[in-house]
Amino acid sequence: MTPVCLNCGTMMKCTKTGARLFECKAPMMPEMPPTDQIGNIRAVWAADVFTCPDCRAEVATHFGAGPLAEEFRPDSIKQAYDAYPEKAFFVCRP
Ligand SMILES: [Zn+2]
Repeated sequence: MTPVCLNCGTMMKCTKTGARLFECKAPMMPEMPPTDQIGNIRAVWAADVFTCPDCRAEVATHFGAGPLAEEFRPDSIKQAYDAYPEKAFFVCRP
């Protein structure tokens, strides 16, 4: 199902497939590389990013059935980042 922007009443467009959402326990510190903050990451999810063509609002949707990586395997979290750093989004869920 395609997301709809409620601001504009417009169908959003998929602008990134296979994005990696890093679910963080606290906000990431921008001055430190993400790979030095692995302990702050609870899980990594694959998702698609949709963007509103009018107001540029973005949403992540179409999540996989389960996480790609979880905190009890920190090596898998680092691997998920190293494979696609350009697709990484950090989402804080304390
Ligand atoms: Zn919009």
